[in-house]
Amino acid sequence: MTERSATPSTRQRIEAFAATLPMSDTQDFDDARRGFIGRSEVRQIVAEDGRVVWDLDAYEFMRDAEAPDTANPSLWRQGQVLIEDGLFEVVPGIYQLRGFDLSVMSVIEGDTGVIVIDPLISTECAAAAFALYTEHRGERPVVAMIYTHSHGDHFGGVKGIISQEQVDAGEVQVIAPDGFMEHAIAENVFAGTAMARRAGYMYGAAVDRGPAGQIGAGLGQTTSTGTVSLIAPTVDITETGQRLTIDGVEIEFQITPGTEAPAEMNFYFPQHRALCTAENTSHTLHNILTIRGALVRDAHAWAHYLTETIDLWGGELDVVFASHHWPTWGRERAVEFLAMQRDMYLYLHDQTLRMMNQGFTGSEIAEVLQMPPALESQWHTHGYYGTVSHNVKAVYQRYMGWYDANPANLWPHPPEAVAVRYVEAMGGRDGALAVARRAWDDGDYRWCAEVGKHLVFADDGDAEARDLLADALEQLGFGAESGTWRNAYLAGATELRSGNFGTPVSSSGPDLISALTVTQVLDSIAIRVDGPKAWDVAAKVAFVMTDEGTTHLAELRNGALHHRTVTEVPAGTTTFTLTRLDLIGTVTGTVDLAQALADGSITVDGDPAELAQLVGLLAPVDPDFDIVTP
Ligand SMILES: [Zn+2]
Repeated sequence: MTERSATPSTRQRIEAFAATLPMSDTQDFDDARRGFIGRSEVRQIVAEDGRVVWDLDAYEFMRDAEAPDTANPSLWRQGQVLIEDGLFEVVPGIYQLRGFDLSVMSVIEGDTGVIVIDPLISTECAAAAFALYTEHRGERPVVAMIYTHSHGDHFGGVKGIISQEQVDAGEVQVIAPDGFMEHAIAENVFAGTAMARRAGYMYGAAVDRGPAGQIGAGLGQTTSTGTVSLIAPTVDITETGQRLTIDGVEIEFQITPGTEAPAEMNFYFPQHRALCTAENTSHTLHNILTIRGALVRDAHAWAHYLTETIDLWGGELDVVFASHHWPTWGRERAVEFLAMQRDMYLYLHDQTLRMMNQGFTGSEIAEVLQMPPALESQWHTHGYYGTVSHNVKAVYQRYMGWYDANPANLWPHPPEAVAVRYVEAMGGRDGALAVARRAWDDGDYRWCAEVGKHLVFADDGDAEARDLLADALEQLGFGAESGTWRNAYLAGATELRSGNFGTPVSSSGPDLISALTVTQVLDSIAIRVDGPKAWDVAAKVAFVMTDEGTTHLAELRNGALHHRTVTEVPAGTTTFTLTRLDLIGTVTGTVDLAQALADGSITVDGDPAELAQLVGLLAPVDPDFDIVTP
């Protein structure tokens, strides 16, 4: 990789920004090191095939190093706190494994064994982290696993620690908030491919690590790339106030649906006076809408639940910890931290609505909304993962959608068509390039990127335009305080310079696919139907699920495949009798339908070719779609 540097404009912008930062507040470094017990001697975690899926030393270049010109010092500092890895004591009996993945794993010691909270993304990382715990605290059986919420970085590594057999035998309870399975799986059913491709931008997985490259994602350094697993919960937490005692450990729960995740919960350990806030609080401004794409979150509900958290336990807790970042100790500090996080989400929400009702649009509010100085003076309210800018637009989107009500924006030309027109209006390719270069010279990289985008979308073979756009995105990345923005900018620059890197991390392992419900399987087929090809096809197929005792009727008409459960199959309908896993296998190609029909594991009444015809109408997904080029 060529050594890249920041321009004088970027340096100036960074210096002016740095002057506003509370650099004298070094408490986070103390908290991130407090209770340190030991580091893992295994520094590179490898998969069975020898691939390194996590490198604990990947960010050593940041340790004790001054922020380079090519990084916002606030983000650099966040990365430096995040690379404090190892086993840490939160309070006697509660431990955390930090630095082993994007997320953090916690271990609570009971009378005979341990309760594990949030087993990271990959089984390999979870196993390596738990091995470090065992090395220092001794062999203790896992008696329970708690998933705080339905995001993959909080359950994917579960089989690195426990097995399905142990759960089936009743040796280990798996506890999760109500709706966990539905949401853990649902996120991948409808938009999984597009989200995974976009996540490659957000986490910078294909961007080289280094002072001018990827330096973290704000929430954690990046995502691990090992084996993703899933074991379904055996205990659902359905209401606030629910209590469990596991192996002598008392736990009180607060469910917080529709906050950071659709299924999420906070919980309190009264014997330890310790509160786990899942991902509802963290040492960053989180996302109201993540830039990989998702449904917009409810900042109002999020803030409301944090108020409830303070009411429930604020009078007694001694420490608050979560599944990212480091804990906050001391009742006063912990409660103030919770309250500041709450105020931050509520302020964003309320002020965006105030200005919306004064007629401002999302992009206008994003430009002028400033957080209160008292919040800005705290590190944990800074936008390392979310940003004020895109969160404001997210609040607008939640209430108003994409349209800003200006009819000129109701039906604009799409990107390629508009690009050709803009380039022509700027005097053709050379004129437009001159405009972009002038913006570069002025240090106006936002405008340079805007014009450069049109040049590339008008002609993606224009090497000069591609280079200039890549350079502009890179300068925006160097200046960004947000890890996800920096990653997105640098990922765009990388693709403009060296081509499409596809989707570096796969989003779902076999466990997630085999957890699909019949409804989810049929939904995932329906969204792959090639509409125009299917316009004139009418087909009806029924599935009798032997293991679930249900019958599903899928009907294709007018290019739309709808499905429902029925008590009786209409006469003459081709009907397959099979298990849910056989249905999944048939759809994903791991079960050969002809073979299964021949050996009788799947039976059919009617013409099996009807299913083949339906499958023939499915279009492939594209995990390598273009983003910065047309
Ligand atoms: Zn997370």
